[in-house]
Amino acid sequence: MGTVTAPFREAIDAVALAGGEALKQCYQCGLCTGTCPWNLVKSFPTRKLIHQAQLGIVDFESEDTWTCATCRACVARCPRGVAIIDIMRALRNIVAEMGAGHLPDSLRVTLKNIAGTGNPLGEPAERRTDWINDPQITTFTGEAEVLYFSCCVPAYDPNVRRVARATAKVLHRAGVRFAITGDRENCCGESVRKSGNETLFQKLAANNIAAFNESGINKIVVTSPHCYYTFKNEYPKLGGNFEVVHYTEFMARLIKDGRLKPTKPVDARVTYHDPCYLGRHSGIYDAPREILKSIPGIDLVEMPDHGPDSICCGGGGGRIWMETRKGERLSDLRLDQAAGTGASILAAACPYCILNFEDSILTTDRLGRIEVKDISELLAESL
Ligand code: SF4
Ligand code: SF4
Repeated sequence: MGTVTAPFREAIDAVALAGGEALKQCYQCGLCTGTCPWNLVKSFPTRKLIHQAQLGIVDFESEDTWTCATCRACVARCPRGVAIIDIMRALRNIVAEMGAGHLPDSLRVTLKNIAGTGNPLGEPAERRTDWINDPQITTFTGEAEVLYFSCCVPAYDPNVRRVARATAKVLHRAGVRFAITGDRENCCGESVRKSGNETLFQKLAANNIAAFNESGINKIVVTSPHCYYTFKNEYPKLGGNFEVVHYTEFMARLIKDGRLKPTKPVDARVTYHDPCYLGRHSGIYDAPREILKSIPGIDLVEMPDHGPDSICCGGGGGRIWMETRKGERLSDLRLDQAAGTGASILAAACPYCILNFEDSILTTDRLGRIEVKDISELLAESL
């Protein structure tokens, strides 16, 4: 446990809200702790962390510093409008400034990968286009309607490349002229920023903004809600002003405009998991459901906790790159909720959610009980 010195205190104040008002506003009602989904699987004292920050105290060794998944459930309910996520980010920033030795091991490795190669998996930049199995996909030529930004996970993870491929297939079927910036782009930096490494985030953002500007592009379709949030809300402050569209919004529009006609039945009961960065952070709840409802054969059922009340998969806030002990995984809980609806498919719209759910299926006894598919895959199957 350590007391925050004056410069660090200024860092909390500056990051959290101008003048430190974010901290002063908290009157310790505890609603944030009562709302936080982590308390369904373990103890996580959100209110206590805020109180310690008010007192200028940081426990440099506590795993609580790294637990918040930035799901925004508490922010939405806080009666004082406290910027809880910004305060968590400020705490991480302070601990990270004390040295990389204070970071969780797996996060430290991932940040090193991103700093060295531009992606969390540590793969060479030139392999960023390995997911492409269609010769029609090109780097940006100036003739395309939109840029497609796949996110690092579908670009590099062999088990998730299917998501980028399905998206490309759907766009092609709709006659959308799209292109990519290939190895010129890098990680959007969202998990880096939420992990407290502001300097690395700024570097990643500057490179992407330069790549997008060089291509002359002004409309970007993204797979990941994390890229979506960051391009839309963080990049404009750094000079990157683009029209950003999540692929579910884009595809729902293509269906409405008659450019896509799902005709092949996908006979299955499906439930949809609202990703935190698409739902609570960005207010996009309808488009994913409109796509699913347009696919013949799909029986869409809702989990009790859905829409604004959806429970986080546990992957936000950089947690996707940190170990979560067995028995404490929100993705396990969420899979049980999905299976409880009688659905055979859990539909997702975020690569981090897919990674977490597939890991939960493999590490528990849920194999064969439910399958995880991205909405783009289900739509591609129906064309
Ligand atoms: S819900 Fe808001 S006011 Fe209440 S303890 Fe949490 S941060 Fe403070
Ligand atoms: S943002 Fe989500 S994970 Fe973080 S403290 Fe709030 S409810 Fe918990």
